[in-house]
Amino acid sequence: MDKNETLIGVCRFCGQYNLYSDMEGTSEAERNERATRQCNCDEGKKYAEQLAFEEKRKKQREETLLRASIQIEELFGEGARKQNFPSLSENYLTIFNNMAALIYDDVILKCNIDVTGLVKATISTNAKGVLQIQRTDKIVGKLEV
Ligand SMILES: [Zn+2]
Repeated sequence: MDKNETLIGVCRFCGQYNLYSDMEGTSEAERNERATRQCNCDEGKKYAEQLAFEEKRKKQREETLLRASIQIEELFGEGARKQNFPSLSENYLTIFNNMAALIYDDVILKCNIDVTGLVKATISTNAKGVLQIQRTDKIVGKLEV
């Protein structure tokens, strides 16, 4: 194939086409996708906005779940040990991270996990839809004489 061959991409909504000189080795579908995203017809613009919106939502989800995993590590992992609370094994942190994702995605509303009888994890969202992660430790003091 000629190095500088121009290739055509066609908007799937209105049929306008663009010539690309930098898309060598791409498929027709890839060029049409680019032409559709960049098209100035109403449907093309709507499509590009929809993609940008979905991209933003996906990015927000990733960022939120990353913050949640940091928080989970802080509350239940090494961070807990630094605060003189018992830390939990990686298996638990994985479960909590999975729960946080399910709650963020509205698959489940809330979860309470009674880990050891002494440590409890609660993951939920508040009224504003913000993810909340809470650790509760039951401190037992008992003396026998
Ligand atoms: Zn178009």
